[in-house]
Amino acid sequence: MPLVPPKAEPFPVVPGNAPVLEHLSPHDLVTYFRCPHEMELHRSQHLSWRTGASLSPRTPPGTAPLPHSPLFPPPVGDPRPVHGRLDVGLQDTLLYQDPDEPGLPFLFPPERSHAHAFLHERSPTLEDRAWGLSGRPDYVIRRPDGHCFPVEYKDTHLFEDYPRHHGRLFDFLQVLAECRLVEATWGVVPVSGMVYYGDTAGGGEREGWVEIPYGGAPRAWLQAALKVIRADLVRAPVPQEGNCTHCEPNRDGLCGYARARFEDVHPSHRGEAPRARRFY
Ligand code: SF4
Repeated sequence: MPLVPPKAEPFPVVPGNAPVLEHLSPHDLVTYFRCPHEMELHRSQHLSWRTGASLSPRTPPGTAPLPHSPLFPPPVGDPRPVHGRLDVGLQDTLLYQDPDEPGLPFLFPPERSHAHAFLHERSPTLEDRAWGLSGRPDYVIRRPDGHCFPVEYKDTHLFEDYPRHHGRLFDFLQVLAECRLVEATWGVVPVSGMVYYGDTAGGGEREGWVEIPYGGAPRAWLQAALKVIRADLVRAPVPQEGNCTHCEPNRDGLCGYARARFEDVHPSHRGEAPRARRFY
């Protein structure tokens, strides 16, 4: 499958300025949280695509796999899902909408949308040079009190028992990074961001949204997570079945660890005393 160019490009190097931080995107944060090697394979793929040179991932051959990512989950509590259409008020306005996502639903009438004006003057990719981050939320909305927040749209339905069982934590990570991009672009620290699950099947009965807190501890977690990613000179694989099954580099045959995986050994299945995960 051909490589899709990333929307978020690295910042240009300006001669004489301080060294540019390694460019990261919300997608990098999500893939690193799942498997650092997956992020590294994406990164080297994209660099090769951009430069035309064949660039290898930095992960040394023979690197021992990890049982889980070096990142701990963000301190966002236990955000509860809200059923129904996204809570867009009559006084809310649309500041931004990703122009390269044609499948996004229309949440605002034209008179309450400033997205065209923004895109007329600015790049569609939001940039945060201080934290070396760039990317594109699906929407940015402003409340009448000036509070701005990103919305990440997913065309899947709202799961009742997520995030543990359906990987919705990855959506939360994406929104945290997008909150920072909103902060850097509009100069207002979002109180929260949203994931909007917009599956309209069944007359919209499966639609819903989740509000993810930002500011304070989640914001500090994000800043620390970006430092951890940049300081990681190995980016080891985390070959869990749940990771490898949906991994794009695996689909493209790029990962030498894909067949290796961890297995949960549950004592009730074996009549044995509990033991740690094993690698084979
Ligand atoms: S196939 Fe598995 S181990 Fe390899 S990069 Fe993907 S998620 Fe990581």
